[in-house]
Amino acid sequence: MKIKIMHLYPDLLNLYGDRGNIECLKRRLIWRGIDAEVVCHTCDDKGFDISDVDIVFLGGGSDREQKIVCSRLIEHKKELHDFAENGGSIVAVCGGYQLLGKYYRLEDETIEGLEILDIYTEQGKGRLIGNIVLEADFINQKIVGFENHGGRTYIGSHTPMGKVLYGYGNEENAGAEGVIYKNVVATYLHGPLLPKNPELCDYILTNALKHKYPDFDKLEKLDDTLESTANNYIAERFVK
Ligand code: GLN
Repeated sequence: MKIKIMHLYPDLLNLYGDRGNIECLKRRLIWRGIDAEVVCHTCDDKGFDISDVDIVFLGGGSDREQKIVCSRLIEHKKELHDFAENGGSIVAVCGGYQLLGKYYRLEDETIEGLEILDIYTEQGKGRLIGNIVLEADFINQKIVGFENHGGRTYIGSHTPMGKVLYGYGNEENAGAEGVIYKNVVATYLHGPLLPKNPELCDYILTNALKHKYPDFDKLEKLDDTLESTANNYIAERFVK
C-alpha cells in the first residue's frame, strides 16, 4: 500500500512549522510498513496534477501570501473541488482553511476562495490568539493546538471539527472549530497539529487508505505513550 501526499505551496504557506504535519503523516505510515511519497508544489512549478494524489496539504500564511496562493489555485478550482467531492483527502490549516471557502473579506479587498466548503471568512477586530482545546466526536482524544487568526469563519450548516473547550475557534462566539466535510479536515490549529494529536493524524490516514483501498480495515496500533501523555498534559492544563 502507498499514500501520496502533496504539500501545496510550502514556500508560502508555512507558518509555525506546518511542515511537521507532513512529517507526521509520512512517519505514521512508514512505521506501519505503508509506503509514503511526499511531493511539493511550489510557486515555481508549472504543471498541476493531483490525479494520483491521496492527501493534499495546505498550510497557513499571512494575508499577503494567501492572496498569491489563491490567485494561482483558482486556476485549479475545478480539479480541487472534484478531488474533494470524490473523497480525496485535504488537510487545510488556517490560511489554507480560509481558502477552501467562498471568500475571505479583508478591510479593503476580498480574496476569492476555492468554494470547496460552503463557508466564508471575514476579517474581524483584533486577532484570536492562544492555546485551544477541542472535543471531537470521531476520536477518543482531545485535540490540542494553537490558533492565531484575524479572520472569523462562518461555517453555516457544515459540521465543525470539534467543540471548543478552551480558546476561540471559528469565531469568538461559535463554540466550534474547523470543518469536517467528506475527507476534508479544515482547521485554525497551527503548526505541528498532527504530532500533538496522533489520533487525528490516524483518522486522516485511515480515511485516505479506505478511499484508495476499499478493503482496508484499520491501522495497526502504535506505541503513542509519549504523544498521548503530552496531549493529555496540555488538555488538562487548560480544561479542568
Ligand atoms: N491571514 C489569515 C488570518 O489572519 C490566516 C493567518 C494564518 O494562517 N495564521 O486570519
